[in-house]
Amino acid sequence: MFASRSIRTYLLAALIALCGACTATTGKETRNLMADNAPSTQTEISAPHIVAANDLKGSVIVTQRGAIKIHTYVSPADSFLVTTQIIEGPSKLIVFDGQALKPYAEEVATYVQRLGKPVDRIILSHGHPDHWAGLEALLERLPETPVYSLAGVTSFVRAAGEQMLGNLRKKFGDKVASQVVLPSRVLHTGAQTIDGIGFDFRELLDGEASIQLVALMPDQKVVLAFDLVFAPGEHVFTVQPTFDHWIGILDGLKALGGYDTIMIGHGRPTGRAAYDATIAYLQRAKQIHAWSKDAKSYADALKAAFPDREQPGWVDFSSMILYAHH
Ligand SMILES: [Zn+2]
Repeated sequence: MFASRSIRTYLLAALIALCGACTATTGKETRNLMADNAPSTQTEISAPHIVAANDLKGSVIVTQRGAIKIHTYVSPADSFLVTTQIIEGPSKLIVFDGQALKPYAEEVATYVQRLGKPVDRIILSHGHPDHWAGLEALLERLPETPVYSLAGVTSFVRAAGEQMLGNLRKKFGDKVASQVVLPSRVLHTGAQTIDGIGFDFRELLDGEASIQLVALMPDQKVVLAFDLVFAPGEHVFTVQPTFDHWIGILDGLKALGGYDTIMIGHGRPTGRAAYDATIAYLQRAKQIHAWSKDAKSYADALKAAFPDREQPGWVDFSSMILYAHH
């Protein structure tokens, strides 16, 4: 857990960096996946596919595994392609993460309500505000829905949440929630069955975040890895210098047999190649971090090392936070 001084510097840096990240990604709106050739109706295929939801600014990709569908909402680039994963069981929905900005949380609520099944619970994957700041708006549309998280995640949000929201507001104004919504229930690790769907919840420490939930779906062979894994074609958020430990976590995930679909915190569902791509990125980031004297030299070197990866604004964002700890 961060000391209070660290939290303060982290948040100040996050705000400054956020501005740069947004400017840098404005031109990437074309990554919105609502292409004209998207199928007009959902079809029951097993490969992830885009569904038409042309009234939404975000994108939705549906992955079907037997009777279970996973709807992945991806926000536009101005809130970092942050995802909300909606697991559709036979009679209920299980929603992972609550978006950063109100307009996109409201889009998630709209999409969820179209599915026509009650939300059993919302589960928060980790404490970074891009994943929970939208909970207030989401819960306005889905009142009484219990919000679960690992106990340490709730502690982190309780300690730093108000400051995080305040800093977000300086950039995004009234697109940001008026108050922190703390998870109301504790998510326990281990095997659980929700609406007939088996989950194996795990707590991973010192990866991209200090505490991160991973949810395995053993019957579907899907792993919800959130911010521990990034798509091969995109930059990686590196906000704390826990490179080796994070790589060790990825080695462990990689060793899980048969899990070929990976749901991530930023961007579309990805596959096993994302493990090695994220590991390669972290190895290079660790080397660069070892000699870089400040955030700018770190960011410049990392962008030069991976010139073809998209979302370079993410590097400016995370490098400011990373170096605020020094
Ligand atoms: Zn994130």
